[in-house]
Amino acid sequence: MTQPLKPFGYFEPTTIEEAAQILSKYGTKAKVLAGGIDLVARMRRRLIQPQYVVSILNIPGLDYIQSDEAGLRFGALTAIRSIEFSPIIERDYAVLHEAASQIASVQVKTMGTAVGNLCVATPASDIASALYALAARLRITGSASEKIIPIEDFFVGVNKSVLEPGEIVTEVILPSPTLQTGGAFFKLVRTAADIAKVNVAVSLTVTDNRCGEARIALGSVAPTVIRATHAEEALKGSTLEPKVVEQAAQLAAQEAKPIADLRSTVEYRRGMVRVLVRRAVEKALTRARA
Ligand SMILES: Cc1cc2nc3c(=O)[nH]c(=O)nc-3n(C[C@H](O)[C@H](O)[C@H](O)COP(=O)(O)OP(=O)(O)OC[C@H]3O[C@@H](n4cnc5c(N)ncnc54)[C@H](O)[C@@H]3O)c2cc1C
Repeated sequence: MTQPLKPFGYFEPTTIEEAAQILSKYGTKAKVLAGGIDLVARMRRRLIQPQYVVSILNIPGLDYIQSDEAGLRFGALTAIRSIEFSPIIERDYAVLHEAASQIASVQVKTMGTAVGNLCVATPASDIASALYALAARLRITGSASEKIIPIEDFFVGVNKSVLEPGEIVTEVILPSPTLQTGGAFFKLVRTAADIAKVNVAVSLTVTDNRCGEARIALGSVAPTVIRATHAEEALKGSTLEPKVVEQAAQLAAQEAKPIADLRSTVEYRRGMVRVLVRRAVEKALTRARA
């Protein structure tokens, strides 16, 4: 049940350094505010009660999508809607475009940031699955340090990331796609405005009619988004005929570790991993060969 917000101290720093210093000073008592979609809802439901809220909305230079020969980068305040409508992302990172497009609703996508979506650290994050498939890295800025880590090292459990008090995710970095790369994202939901029962993101490359790289990410079927590494291995080096794709899909279903909850059963989630991985690999393959 939602309730009025409890009083809290509110900061509006205008630089990342200032924000990181305030966050460092107050440690676990402070929370970053970006779009506020998740943070404010949790505060109203008394799931979290930060004594200090540090808005990053007044920090210039955090809302961008930039690409060059090294790849593509976007910032901490880049809205999901901007990602959905970026022509470069639609052309070169179809898996991320599809993940952003399938998030409900327009309001959530307009206010909510892609980085905020990651920082909630839910295994149902559509953005996280797409970014696993794309081998994304995250720039994390603290009051005295900065590091870049692979996205797979960011999540440690349900609603838990490696972020230390005082640290802010300032940028997402994607490598440049190679020739003959294809990707696809699929998800299964109860209603258009719900989070996924299962989501699947795939990226693969094809060289001389054989699969080179393959990355398969599964969401909502483990405490964090996971890679289906046995399925990936089954694809690599193969000519990707239907029986190999089906074998990879079956391996992915075995690698999933779903729970039963109000959205689905263990068996159904596992079954749908197989179906969605097969469909995503087939679609990614068509795109890689186009
Ligand atoms: C109706 C509804 C439908 C939704 N549907 C989907 C869906 O289909 N798929 C899906 O994946 N998600 C879905 N979501 C989740 C939504 O995408 C996220 O809640 C939103 O993107 C969070 O972004 P934000 O900018 O509002 O983050 P905030 O609410 O501002 O912050 C979220 C958390 O991240 C922290 N944080 C934010 N930015 C940073 C940063 N730069 N560095 C460090 N910590 C930070 C905050 O302290 C807070 O703990 C849905 C949410 C709603 C309400």
